[in-house]
Amino acid sequence: MTPPTVGVLSIQGDVREHLRALEACGARPRPVGSVEALAEVDALVIPGGESTAMSKLAILDGLLEPLREARRDGMPMYGSCAGMIMLADRVTDARPDQETVGGIEMTVRRNAFGRQVDSFEVDLAMPALGSAPFPAVFIRAPWVESIGQGVDVLARVSRGADEGTIVAVRQGPLLATAFHPELTGDVRVHELFVEMVRDQA
Ligand code: GLN
Repeated sequence: MTPPTVGVLSIQGDVREHLRALEACGARPRPVGSVEALAEVDALVIPGGESTAMSKLAILDGLLEPLREARRDGMPMYGSCAGMIMLADRVTDARPDQETVGGIEMTVRRNAFGRQVDSFEVDLAMPALGSAPFPAVFIRAPWVESIGQGVDVLARVSRGADEGTIVAVRQGPLLATAFHPELTGDVRVHELFVEMVRDQA
């Protein structure tokens, strides 16, 4: 089976780490910084970074509409952190001119965990990846405030007795995590995504 070509949106953010993780899962990784490059990939990762900058640059580079179109045509996409924000239908605590690619019926709150816990790491239960917990790194991360009916919750972070806030979701060919699996050396999230890409093909 030929390996799927998986792009990483390379206008802003931690591109190289995703390229490396994808390669480790047997995909053919490729940076995507133009409409031409987008046309040549089977799927796309939107990395972490800064979603306001990413949104602005995507508009300047003429990539926002082509990204929306690719997503509407069913291209599998995985967004991590700022990438999760980019795949959300609605964002709170965003600048008024912040645009997203959208596609996942959810409301995401930017910088939701607050200043005191800007960055943290937890061992996250994520059954879709198997029984071993996932070392999840959160950096000025968003969380998911609400979801539509078509969205599957893949993981929650619990901050007490409550059922926890949603930090990983899937809706059809779209996957999003509030954390950064590309920084950990554990490639199970990327593996899950590459599997979704293969299933789609
Ligand atoms: N806080 C950033 C944003 O709103 C996301 C941070 C990240 O991707 N690590 O875009």
